[in-house]
Amino acid sequence: PVTRRVSIFGATGSIGQNTIDLIARDAEAYDVVALTGASNIEQLAADAIRLNADIAVTANEGRLEELRAALAGSGIEAAAGQGALIEAAQRPVDWVMSAIVGAAGLQPGICALEQGATLALANKESLVCAGELILRTAKQNGARLLPVDSEHSAVFQALVGEDMNAVERIIITASGGAFRDWPLDDLANATLDQASSHPNWDMGQRITIDSASMFNKALELIETREYFGVSPAQIEVLVHPESMIHAMVGFRDGALMAHVGPPDMRHAIGYALHWPDRRALPVERLDLAAIGALTFRPPDEKRWPALRLAREVMERRGLAGAVFNAAKETALDGFIAGHLRFPQMAEVVDQVLNSLDPSHIDAQMTLDNVMNADHMARQAATRAIEQTTG
Ligand code: NDP
Ligand code: MG
Repeated sequence: PVTRRVSIFGATGSIGQNTIDLIARDAEAYDVVALTGASNIEQLAADAIRLNADIAVTANEGRLEELRAALAGSGIEAAAGQGALIEAAQRPVDWVMSAIVGAAGLQPGICALEQGATLALANKESLVCAGELILRTAKQNGARLLPVDSEHSAVFQALVGEDMNAVERIIITASGGAFRDWPLDDLANATLDQASSHPNWDMGQRITIDSASMFNKALELIETREYFGVSPAQIEVLVHPESMIHAMVGFRDGALMAHVGPPDMRHAIGYALHWPDRRALPVERLDLAAIGALTFRPPDEKRWPALRLAREVMERRGLAGAVFNAAKETALDGFIAGHLRFPQMAEVVDQVLNSLDPSHIDAQMTLDNVMNADHMARQAATRAIEQTTG
């Protein structure tokens, strides 16, 4: 049997660990090239040894010795820092999981596309910051881009065999996150712990908080626009507390194709891993009779101003997505550090979007310009946070 060469960027995170779970179940089928992580050296080394990877890379330069020690005697190469991450991403493979969190995932993903690998994209920030660049790089190198975000995987699956011209609308669902039913006035007192617990999904801390604020759904609106090439007016968000339907595609004949599945990322990861085949996956089989009812509500833009901000970004395009994401990441850091109250994250992002020089946002989409926009937006957001906290 042919083994597939695979690399996992962000192997120590929530998506990375779910990916490793699937790969480890069928280890002979894969030749693992690179695993990358950042602070969790122990996990990184253990998985590199378990999967017999060629190289393990930590993004943290200062952790090299620790990683070397953990890998001692295994014959597995250890490396650290941004340069090492890029070098590992350039190693030829057939399939890559892009699951670093944040804009830090952009450049390694581009390297993977440049060498023609299939890129399974969990890192939604790549499409938000640089959608046009990502799609162009994939096209120029004959590389395939597969969505892993559950909503986008669902849309992708609903579109198999369909003509994009027959698509009227795309509906992505949102659980509503931790504060869906809270009185609006209480949001200002939401704690980090409260924001970090998700009613349905078990995910990394940052995306969990982004689910409560709907910055996650905001990023996904932009991601939908970039990946599927539909207009902003064709994309809707629907609150669906049960998180069973992940997305729906509406066609011109009135049909809605809904993707239903348990809230387990191994479905979307497995779909991208085995595409275009469908293989058996270790996910729960839904008992709809036991579930009884699925419910839906419109999203409340007062509760979730991030959705309105995403609409602005989708209209402006260009580097507005990079600015939006960087401001969001900085505001999220501010909330995690206790410098911002929960609703102030959206205020900071709004201020940054309105304060930047339009000529920067309209600049050509190159990696340098994206990184530059990201950098300026982080500075502007840091200033806005300082003003907010006095
Ligand atoms: P986690 O926080 O659980 O994991 C993030 C991974 O990135 C870890 O391996 C972490 O290393 C690594 N990392 C963190 N910072 C850096 C950096 N500066 N440079 C390089 N590597 C870094 O995140 P998730 O797995 O939850 O999410 C990963 C991506 O997938 C995100 O873009 C998220 O939006 C997306 N996604 C996640 C879903 C989920 O269910 N979790 C669902 C849909 C999309 P370490 O832990 O060793 O420090
Ligand atoms: Mg999602």
